Amino acid sequence: MQSAFFLDRDGVIIENRPQYVRAWEDVAIFDQAVRALKKLSASPYRIVLVTNQAAVGKGILSLDQAEYINHQLCIRLQELGCRVDGVYMCPHTPDAGCACRKPKPGLLLQAAAELGIQLSGSHMIGDAWSDLQAGFAAGVAATALVRTGRGSAQELLPRPGDIGVAAVFNSLADAVDAWLA
Ligand SMILES: [Mg+2]
Repeated sequence: MQSAFFLDRDGVIIENRPQYVRAWEDVAIFDQAVRALKKLSASPYRIVLVTNQAAVGKGILSLDQAEYINHQLCIRLQELGCRVDGVYMCPHTPDAGCACRKPKPGLLLQAAAELGIQLSGSHMIGDAWSDLQAGFAAGVAATALVRTGRGSAQELLPRPGDIGVAAVFNSLADAVDAWLA
């Protein structure tokens, strides 16, 4: 079994959009994230994106559109020399009571089961405390908040008690540099 880097999408790999990423045209990939993903791609770790897209549940964009954006993102990242082993998305609204919306661990657990990932050797990186909560609940070895996207604002909020020993990095590139060293 392989371990994984579970990565949030918006605010970690691409720019966060306050009014949601609604179309491929809204996607702006961070240069440093490409560098980080290239580095990870050369490592034995699986690379799995785990993303909440409540805009789908709210009817702002369709499930097809959301999946198209993820698909295009994977194609573009591959063109840039990056590997993506899986994309797992929660399309539900916060009040839907699903098991997959972060901070719940459902997306990570599903990915682990389908891809044969050893959670106890895995990492979760996000720009919101709820990403880290999902990682901790899933049983990953380490979690990190990055200051890109919503991260610098999240860092000022009270740190939840259920995130384990969490690190804070300026960017995905810094997190990957530290953890692959
Ligand atoms: Mg995010």
